[in-house]
Amino acid sequence: APTDAHPPAPPTASGELFARAHAVTPGGVNSPVRAFNAVGGTPRFIRSASGARLTDVDGNDYVDLICSWGPMLLGHAHPEVMAQVQAAVARGTSYGTPTEPEVLLAEEIVARTPVDKVRFVSSGTEATMSAIRLARGFTGRDVVVKFAGCYHGHVDALLASAGSGLATFAVPGTPGVPASSTELTLVLPYNDRAAVEKVFAEHGDRIACLVTEASPGNMGVVPPEPGFNRFLAETCTRHGALFVSDEVMTGFRVTREGQWGLDGKAEGWRPDLITYGKVMGGGFPAAAFGGRADVMSQLSPEGPVYQAGTLSGNPVATTAGLATLRLATDEVYAHIGAAAETIKVAAAEALTTVGLPHVVQATGTMFSVFLTEGPVRDFEDASRTDAPAYAAFFHAMLERGVYLPPSAYEAWFLSAAHDDRAVQTVLDALPHAARAAA
Ligand code: PLP
Repeated sequence: APTDAHPPAPPTASGELFARAHAVTPGGVNSPVRAFNAVGGTPRFIRSASGARLTDVDGNDYVDLICSWGPMLLGHAHPEVMAQVQAAVARGTSYGTPTEPEVLLAEEIVARTPVDKVRFVSSGTEATMSAIRLARGFTGRDVVVKFAGCYHGHVDALLASAGSGLATFAVPGTPGVPASSTELTLVLPYNDRAAVEKVFAEHGDRIACLVTEASPGNMGVVPPEPGFNRFLAETCTRHGALFVSDEVMTGFRVTREGQWGLDGKAEGWRPDLITYGKVMGGGFPAAAFGGRADVMSQLSPEGPVYQAGTLSGNPVATTAGLATLRLATDEVYAHIGAAAETIKVAAAEALTTVGLPHVVQATGTMFSVFLTEGPVRDFEDASRTDAPAYAAFFHAMLERGVYLPPSAYEAWFLSAAHDDRAVQTVLDALPHAARAAA
């Protein structure tokens, strides 16, 4: 069926808005996964949000496990963040000149992470697109290596599917991407050292960079096996390529230092370039790429590699990001980690009770529930998830006031505002959802 078929309009305000949205917007949404295509039904149009809760246009409340797909680490409408944002808005919203909040946010990121310098952009897509351009400019090479199931935004060269075999160049993952845009992209299975070694042995002197999600969350949470990121970093270095770690989802989310705080820091290595987004914008469009000073110095206007943006480093977005990072203390991560643990255990218990195959996987405070036997090591494993069962699970949760990601291949996000009451709503709903899915 065509994905933008006009949906039946249920007699709800969300249904009515969805019907009107369809008339003026493809699929009725401004980002595909919001549309419920994977689970069926009508997405709820949200009128307001506070703390751990969303309120839709029909007046229904939901405990939010999407958290804007990651950014809302402190919960919605955090009073202190809102106060700083409102003060920033009152000073004017964009000047196209340098501003102090950009400097403060850059200093905060440099202090928390292994990057020497950062450049701000407005989306994760821009961050990875720019990082790849910089890696190509710095190395004078063109080939990019990525992993199947890792999403880096809708960058042409990264919307690529594996070609006919390992170590062959990729084919476009969507109409509209020319073959010439992916013919310099190699796509490998995640967590597969042999595949990485083979591709570097064959193409090493042409590879500008390997880009990977620091711990993939876009095929569900599929953590790197112990030492895998270090192996990637070392392999890149040995071949004169750059290791680009995409922390758009994990950065300031899985720990206060991102995924690097879980592996690189302990093991004593760092990526050449890292991309950030989501949490660092505090719910506004802000993202960044950063890394080694000698690489970053190749960026315009210091160096020859061009990159720019009208709203990059926007004062309202950087103010929201800075407020969020400053409030994201160790206690915040400990709280989210504990809430995640409670929900993980309860989800596994509910699914075990009804005999549904499942595995719960996590990195730091970020986790997801796969409806398939584990472990899930790569995209092929993740693809075995029982998507129809997840759709039933999802709708049973929604009916009981829990808004999960409307796709079986996503992380479930929590925030500092997910208190005992919010967690209890999730715990109460889980057994019903498990029964609906079984
Ligand atoms: N990289 C990763 C790991 C992501 O999860 C995403 C978005 O989900 C992106 C890049 C793209 O970010 P954006 O949607 O802000 O363009």
